[in-house]
Amino acid sequence: MAKIPGIVFVAAGIAIAWFSRYVDARTENQGLILFFYAGIVLITIGVFKIITKYITNNKEEPKKETNISEEEKKIRETIEKRKIITCNTCGTRHYSTSNYCHMCGTKLK
Ligand SMILES: [Zn+2]
Repeated sequence: MAKIPGIVFVAAGIAIAWFSRYVDARTENQGLILFFYAGIVLITIGVFKIITKYITNNKEEPKKETNISEEEKKIRETIEKRKIITCNTCGTRHYSTSNYCHMCGTKLK
């Protein structure tokens, strides 16, 4: 079902609905009214499929790409912050985000 394009449902729905109305008008009875409703249902399914496919193609794929690059950015920023620097005065190791040595108070940057 997922492999059938929405436009096929719409086309089939229109054909069935139109055919049932056409035959009913010719024969002056309402015997094919169920086919008309079936056609409307098919059109609805088809339109829904087209909209779903449109949303999937246009929203989800670029979203995934930006998510990956955002995550990568955050990871890279974290790695950058976690760089280890050493105090020149006492040799204590610090994260590069530290401005002063917590052991001797020497300015690190
Ligand atoms: Zn120090």
